[in-house]
Amino acid sequence: MSSEFNLIDRFFVQDNVSRNDVDLGIGDDCALVSVPEGYQVAITTDTLAAGTHFLADADPIKVGYKALASNLSDLAAMGAKPTWVSLALTLPKPDEKWLEGFCEGFFGLAKQHNVQLIGGDTTKGPLSITITVQGLVPKGEALTRKGAKVGDDIYVTGLIGDSAAGLEVLLNTSKQIKTELELELEYRHYYSTPKVELAQRLRHLCHSALDISDGLISDLAHILKQSNVRAYIDVDQLPISDELMQYFSGNRERCEKTALTSGEEYELCFTAPKENRDAIKKISFLLNQDVSIIGEIEKGPFSTLQDTIKLHKDTTSLDWVLYGYDHFRN
Ligand code: ADP
Ligand code: MG
Repeated sequence: MSSEFNLIDRFFVQDNVSRNDVDLGIGDDCALVSVPEGYQVAITTDTLAAGTHFLADADPIKVGYKALASNLSDLAAMGAKPTWVSLALTLPKPDEKWLEGFCEGFFGLAKQHNVQLIGGDTTKGPLSITITVQGLVPKGEALTRKGAKVGDDIYVTGLIGDSAAGLEVLLNTSKQIKTELELELEYRHYYSTPKVELAQRLRHLCHSALDISDGLISDLAHILKQSNVRAYIDVDQLPISDELMQYFSGNRERCEKTALTSGEEYELCFTAPKENRDAIKKISFLLNQDVSIIGEIEKGPFSTLQDTIKLHKDTTSLDWVLYGYDHFRN
């Protein structure tokens, strides 16, 4: 792109975070960073493509936020502290207005987490954003999907289901004027908060964790498969917002099904031994971030999704057939 260098200087250098452990940032062939003794680097990449993960005419501020948030959520799931980020942008044209908005969303969140943009690439083509975030975690302490143990409590953070309802609102173009409730749910779809700090504080108390950006059911299945166990879930315990209940006119079952399958909200699912309940509750209280126990890990083996995740309402077993989240243009 002819004005690539101007764009980089103007948009990606000026508003950047500055970290002491970045020895060489944007401007050379590679960035150089220093990793402290006793730490591992956790690395994750996510692509957001226009038409698949966001609408091409979506507000760029929200797109910039969401692109980084989805990556930070993956780092959170490992219990890592975010440090550095790279940004590969493919743009149909050097649209300054779009870039201004994108950078506002992107750097706004980067600053909150003290993450420095250390490089990237800028090319011409259909609108797409690929972000690689790196973070630090004490050696051997990262939370993985493997460690769930029989008898563990199964937790989720925050409220689940709002993002799917927000997406439904967003895609309903037939409605000209949206209610306050609909706008709130749409906002929650875009501005889910990655649970970065909470996960770091909970790290030593959990056996396994992952983020549920593809929906609770399909993501929990990853833990169960890798740990070769099953899950008992009580849908009465799913944390559902008042707004979602209102959106579905008080139909709790619709809320529960939505909560089990909603995607793109950056909550975590983790498992932890029962003796850690009080310690987990305390951290949740201190950070003012809710966690809910929604079930228990049971003896394996992992088999089909329906057999492996046993859904109950109180003690009555449910025969719901649910699938994970699909991006709206898949
Ligand atoms: P190269 O030809 O070595 O790939 P570029 O000309 O693409 O280098 O980029 C020059 C510098 O600007 C590099 O340090 C690169 O990491 C950085 N850069 C390019 N695009 C972006 C971007 N979208 N965000 C952040 N840094 C970028
Ligand atoms: Mg390049």
